[in-house]
Amino acid sequence: MSEKTIALVTGANKGIGYEIAAGLGTLGMTVGVGARDAEKGEEAAAKLRAGGTDAFAVPLDVTDDESVAAAVALFEDRFGRLDVLVNNAGIAGPWPSSPSATTAQDLRDVVETNVIGVVRVTNALLPLLRRSEHPRIVNQSSHVASLTLQTSTDSAYGGPNGAYTPSKTFLNAITVQYAQELSGIKVNAVCPGYVATDLNGFAGTDTPADGARAAIALATTGVDGPTGGLFDHAGVVPW
Ligand code: NDP
Repeated sequence: MSEKTIALVTGANKGIGYEIAAGLGTLGMTVGVGARDAEKGEEAAAKLRAGGTDAFAVPLDVTDDESVAAAVALFEDRFGRLDVLVNNAGIAGPWPSSPSATTAQDLRDVVETNVIGVVRVTNALLPLLRRSEHPRIVNQSSHVASLTLQTSTDSAYGGPNGAYTPSKTFLNAITVQYAQELSGIKVNAVCPGYVATDLNGFAGTDTPADGARAAIALATTGVDGPTGGLFDHAGVVPW
């Protein structure tokens, strides 16, 4: 059995996920590069390996049961366990889109990836995570998911959005539920900041490497570290 920490980052072929994979690799982990497009995953894993990361591609569409089952089998066969799961894959859906302009299908699509995808992947990998000595799950959330910040006077966290924003609030609720159930596993949600990626047409102000910091910190939190919290790179974010 591998002595190295084994990690999986979903949606790691680009953006923040790619930088999370790079950061975990720099810390000495073996990193599975989850990507729904197998070719893009291979390309990203090759680039990471060229940079010194012990990376391998994991074809993984978080909305597809068969794809998730195949990814689980890959980790089972290769390592027999998983130590770190970063649920990073996400979509923005129609943007901007006020609640009144959001269709039921828009909402279903975004929730299918951003929430149900996380549950599908997490539940499928729990048996492997339970075999880890120090298992950790990190869910990629957002400052906009915070109901406290949404309803504060700071308009930076406001702005109506009918699908993406509630999907991440839903993800926060799911994170709390997992943390309450899984006493042996640290489960936290993180906010990357406003990061220039495809998700927002590169309008973000932070780099993907900056955006990766919170997830990397919670993926490597110590045995006395938090569980059931929401964090950015600077510390606790209110729910
Ligand atoms: P990107 O669009 O650059 O990356 C999103 C990643 O998720 C891609 O790898 C994409 O794959 C993947 N993905 C989408 N759908 C699926 C799916 N069904 N199965 C597997 N992978 C999928 O965006 P970011 O890097 O910005 O986003 C990463 C995470 O950070 C998301 O959860 C996002 O909500 C969150 N976030 C981002 C913020 C920002 O400012 N950028 C702010 C707050 C949160 P593909 O390349 O095939 O599309």
